[in-house]
Amino acid sequence: MKSTLDWDNLEGSLEALLGSHRRGWIDFLLPEFDDIRSRARASGDYPEISNIFEKFGKLRVYVGHPVSDGDRAMLDKLVCMSEFLCECCGNSARTQDISGYLVTLCNSCYHAQYKDKSVPQISRGLDIARRYPALVSDNVASLVPSIGRGWMPLINRGVNKMHGLLRCHEGELQIEISDIREKLGTLKVSMARSHPVAEVVVDQMVREADLTCVECSYFGQRVRGKREHMGMCPVCDGG
Ligand SMILES: [Zn+2]
Ligand SMILES: [Zn+2]
Repeated sequence: MKSTLDWDNLEGSLEALLGSHRRGWIDFLLPEFDDIRSRARASGDYPEISNIFEKFGKLRVYVGHPVSDGDRAMLDKLVCMSEFLCECCGNSARTQDISGYLVTLCNSCYHAQYKDKSVPQISRGLDIARRYPALVSDNVASLVPSIGRGWMPLINRGVNKMHGLLRCHEGELQIEISDIREKLGTLKVSMARSHPVAEVVVDQMVREADLTCVECSYFGQRVRGKREHMGMCPVCDGG
């Protein structure tokens, strides 16, 4: 059976399988696969790689028949490393959640591809009191988080989770948010009424916000400004 990965045409074959826009990953894989090919040439037994693709921001490699332990270890290493390499340029990167779609991109490739698109329009004017009235006191008519637009998706996810908790524990839980704001790059969530399960969600939001650019939502790379922390990624801080 012919291997899906063509050992005689590694580059063309990787481009066809992964998409030529994943240049960073292709350039990272080529020398490693070249090594595997050199070893296989001696024995004449080429590993059958039946598929290589991207899933949830990470490489997936499927092999046809069992490969040697050495090749298996090498393939596992490549898969793990792909999670921290920009698929476009190969620079170090973190996996980004773009409206539920996971993609591993460095800060500048993220900006080149997703600037403005990453922040859903619907989130820009999120009014918690209107969208989730059960999560605020009865006398609160409007509660709009005072934060940069880059944090809107994570606030949206967190508030949605709290709303889910309320629905799951109908009548047993009282969760009321009184304020959500950003102060010097840190997220502050004030609760009028809370519960340990809601505090877990708040802690997650605060930790995620600590690593998320307040402007563009890029996760995993923020810079400390000269005088104070503004909570921005290198591209937003420089622009
Ligand atoms: Zn990149
Ligand atoms: Zn940014």
